[in-house]
Amino acid sequence: MLVTRFPVPAAEPRDEALWQRALALHRSAIVVDGHNDITGAMTDDGYNLATPSAGKHHTDLPRLREGGVSALFFAIYVDHKFVTNNTATRRALAVIDATHREIERHPNDLVLCTTAAGIRAAKQSGRIAALMGAENGAAIEDSLATLRAFHRLGVRYLTLTHMQATTWADASTAPPRHQGLSDFGKSVVREMNRLGMMVDVSHVADKTMSDVLDLTIAPIIASHSSARALAPHPRNIPDDLLKRIATNGGVVMVNFYPGYIDPRISVVLEQLQPELDALRAQWRDQPARSRAERRKLMEGRLPVTPLAVVIDHIEHVIKVAGINHVGLGSDFDGISIVPADLRDVSMFPNITYELLKRGHSEADVKKILGENFLRVFAEVERRATAKPDQISGGPEGRTR
Ligand SMILES: [Zn+2]
Repeated sequence: MLVTRFPVPAAEPRDEALWQRALALHRSAIVVDGHNDITGAMTDDGYNLATPSAGKHHTDLPRLREGGVSALFFAIYVDHKFVTNNTATRRALAVIDATHREIERHPNDLVLCTTAAGIRAAKQSGRIAALMGAENGAAIEDSLATLRAFHRLGVRYLTLTHMQATTWADASTAPPRHQGLSDFGKSVVREMNRLGMMVDVSHVADKTMSDVLDLTIAPIIASHSSARALAPHPRNIPDDLLKRIATNGGVVMVNFYPGYIDPRISVVLEQLQPELDALRAQWRDQPARSRAERRKLMEGRLPVTPLAVVIDHIEHVIKVAGINHVGLGSDFDGISIVPADLRDVSMFPNITYELLKRGHSEADVKKILGENFLRVFAEVERRATAKPDQISGGPEGRTR
């Protein structure tokens, strides 16, 4: 049993004038979160986003307002268990449906957005832009027709893998099956380029990312990934690929998860893994219960990751890829532990404050908060319309 206790760093007193400046800048900026997993609770527990849920979830409408979030990507996440059950597409459709219904339920707060211009219009209208990104390429069940149907339903990015390899792309956290992208995987990327759907390389293996960069005619995104030079987790992106994403014109949206960004945490998590696995098995049918128990188990046994670590990752991406290629992808409600001062969606203004404190210009802070992402999204749309309509594959869109 691990008994290590880590000291909690003392909070620095806030510079009130700087905080007011940060708040004003934050409210005027377009703030985009590249990846949020509250969709699990919406789909499985009928969670209504208007219900304040602090202590249970990271996300609800009051806290999204407080956090000045202008746009967020609801993760259309398909767990590996649905892949092994052969119900991956059905699951994706259930999550897409739950997201549409939640947007319809809150017409004064949320508006479905499928374009970069739509995000700006939502901000103008005082509503939060709700977008969808599908997480796990297995969701299309090897069908380009299904990929196109997802696009028509409003899905604007596809994360090519989750933790496991798909039948056509390797993941960063599982043994390679294809040495990157298979031929069908390449046709998925081409079809996404043609449709104007963003290719998301979070979770994929380095070789998959490299294959995508060789192939894509549009900028790519990493919707929730950080810098491997600062923390050696395979989910983070190494410097050579950060540079290539810069050349590609894409954006790396930094993930807040301490388990990825803080190397001290990975060590402890590894030690706790048997207990965590036991809890997950025990509460398999009650994910919320499992999460709560996991949180309790980890409490006090993990070092507290300060917000500064997230800012360090942002600054590393800036150093290696440049100021035009960094954004934010929280992973809120997909993660069981969070950094101090970045505990839920209400705390995004703390990022703005910390960036200003470190001397970043207001224009640069706006780029990080959302303008870089908006540039990529608009460019992906532009490239799509510039390409002739050449649907690949047969009636099912299968080319494998
Ligand atoms: Zn993820």
